[in-house]
Amino acid sequence: MSMDRRRPSTATATDADAAVQTAAPQAAAHRQPSDAKDSPASVARPKRGVPEGLWLKCDGCGATIYRKEAEEKLNVCPQCGFHWYVSAAKRIEQLLDAGTFEEWDADLKPADPLGFRDKKPYAERIVAEQKRTGLKDAALTGTGMIRARRVACGVTDSSFIMGSMGSVVGERLTRLVERATAGKLPLIIISASGGGARMHEGILSLMQMAKVSAALARYSQAGGLFISVLTNPTMGGVAASFASLGDLCFAEPRALIGFAGPRTIKATIRVELPKGFQTSEFLLEHGFIDRIVPRKDLKSEIARAIDYCGG
Ligand SMILES: [Zn+2]
Repeated sequence: MSMDRRRPSTATATDADAAVQTAAPQAAAHRQPSDAKDSPASVARPKRGVPEGLWLKCDGCGATIYRKEAEEKLNVCPQCGFHWYVSAAKRIEQLLDAGTFEEWDADLKPADPLGFRDKKPYAERIVAEQKRTGLKDAALTGTGMIRARRVACGVTDSSFIMGSMGSVVGERLTRLVERATAGKLPLIIISASGGGARMHEGILSLMQMAKVSAALARYSQAGGLFISVLTNPTMGGVAASFASLGDLCFAEPRALIGFAGPRTIKATIRVELPKGFQTSEFLLEHGFIDRIVPRKDLKSEIARAIDYCGG
């Protein structure tokens, strides 16, 4: 990871960018924050993912869709089943029983230990992202009910600095896992992270992978059930740590899931990559994930898995 301040792009960010821009047509629809990070106007832009307006153009099939109709279907295209981005807050709303979510560790805020600066100071970037997304950082964690079963639940949001795992995301998830362990709660983490480590926080970011993974190992030893849900995109250090460690790994259809982006891999190993590489469907076929679950079924599938595993 480069700390050279003249050259802000690290391998981590670049790889994930490349992945999002090139891998799958549906991924391109979900604009990553990095796309606009160099533009002073980016702060004023509306939330990414689902653009404003009454009508949406589907990035899966090209059809023009009435926004309300897509929203009624949990931001899924009624024509082709394309799954649009949903924010962390919306995801919680979709997944948990109404009014049951209680946020944990809401007061954790990112620090800027390196005084990092690329096109703009990290401290300023954080404030702008917080204002734009309404989140303190890229993860939302807490407890709630799924069809009357109490769970510990965490969600990452790719619209906040690519959903990358800085110290706040790592700490919130670690505390979530530890509370799930102490409270003997099933644990659900929904990943939507186009980035892995957050370069702006240097080693403090990189160590979060090991920290969350160690907490998950203790949770597992205590007999906990961890259901990891991978959504578009789940890349980098998030994919390489907690997102891949589920007792059950579910994925939304046609999600982009991988470590480095396909362009980087191709440039490194110099072979043609298989068709559909790094999609949910490809990974299911190769045993990396257990089940592809359309968004409309996610709540009932998780509830069913909890019951099946005696949670
Ligand atoms: Zn469509």
